[in-house]
Amino acid sequence: MLTYEEAREKILDRVSPLGEERVQLDAAAGRTLAGEVRAPGDLPPWDNSAMDGYAVRSEDCRGEAVLPIAGYQTAGGSDAAAVPKGGAVRIMTGSPIPPGCDAVVPFEEAEERGGSVRVPAPVRPHQHIRFRGEDVRAGALVLRDGTVLRPPRISLLASFGRAMAPVYRKPRVAILSTGDELVELGDPPGHGKIVNSNSHALAAAVVEAGGDPILLGIARDEREDLRAKLSAGLAADVLVTSAGVSAGDRDLVRDVLAELGVENVFWKVLVKPGGPTAFGVAGRIPVFSLPGNPVSSLITFEVFVRPALRRMTGSPHPVKAPVKATLAEPVRKKPGKTQFLRVLIESGEEGYVARTAGDQNTGILRTLALADGIAVLPLERTNFAAGEKVDVLLLYGQE
Ligand code: AMP
Ligand code: MG
Repeated sequence: MLTYEEAREKILDRVSPLGEERVQLDAAAGRTLAGEVRAPGDLPPWDNSAMDGYAVRSEDCRGEAVLPIAGYQTAGGSDAAAVPKGGAVRIMTGSPIPPGCDAVVPFEEAEERGGSVRVPAPVRPHQHIRFRGEDVRAGALVLRDGTVLRPPRISLLASFGRAMAPVYRKPRVAILSTGDELVELGDPPGHGKIVNSNSHALAAAVVEAGGDPILLGIARDEREDLRAKLSAGLAADVLVTSAGVSAGDRDLVRDVLAELGVENVFWKVLVKPGGPTAFGVAGRIPVFSLPGNPVSSLITFEVFVRPALRRMTGSPHPVKAPVKATLAEPVRKKPGKTQFLRVLIESGEEGYVARTAGDQNTGILRTLALADGIAVLPLERTNFAAGEKVDVLLLYGQE
């Protein structure tokens, strides 16, 4: 049986970024840039004022000076004429520096009266000027392939006049829940039936990982229905199923996947929860068979499916980097499996502090809903003392 790390490696070995597409810049937030971006020109494109004030020649202001105002320059307005020696131009932030001037005196440091401005103190050459190209030089590499388009990066692209961005395609992720006990959300669950919550939980997780979920609904625990719905799922970029992969009498998912030509890469991993997880491939399509327990399916999604989706979206770092957190209390586990412990996280003076979110039983969804992170407790270890540092995968940002 594979360890957690081995299983994740086997998955990442089998997936690669999808093709590219061009999207409107406003639809590109959170997407991954396909290819690098070089600056088509200088930023800023011309020398301009960093302040509202007066453009002057610094040589005219070696001591106190009184300069006649020769022009007025607004941001976006037409250019003021060249400033005669000994003159000044009233200038607004962002306006091009008039020819001849080499400094700006802010309003707060000058006094305007009767068409002249008095500058009481000496002026340094270049003060309060933003020079052409000081932010970005034409031709410079500004965004690398695989960069996630966050707001400042969208800002750079917009500054370059790019209305469209090349990004990696989002993986279309088919989600199929299996089980005779399931009813669809909205239908009354009769005795012995439960609502198919996994499809909705996994769809939300797919969106967070940067994919587009396709809900295939429920397949019953019988070959015909499974065959029809699983083969529909193989038309997507990724197929994720829940339940029917344990050792139960009606756990047919793996069987039917094999009949459909899905090559089994592994079944069962040394993890808790999530032991029965299976992974296979149909050509380029990764197929994840997650256990049915809502807690197991979401945790195995986080640790196995999410990295695959991140790689498919072009991310160069598909595996989430864990943070170090100090255990606030002792924790025990059995040896032989990596345990994913649902934890609450606080930021203390010395970094993150982790405490258990409560009952860690696989049947307890409530504590996963409370958790801020998942502590990854190594396979061979058994006893963890309070004060020890452990690796934690943070689930969401601070809320
Ligand atoms: P299984 O993996 O089929 O043994 O299912 C394990 C547990 O997960 C059982 O208690 C199922 O009722 C439950 N379960 C399976 N599928 C779902 C689902 N789609 N939504 C919520 N619970 C489920
Ligand atoms: Mg079942």
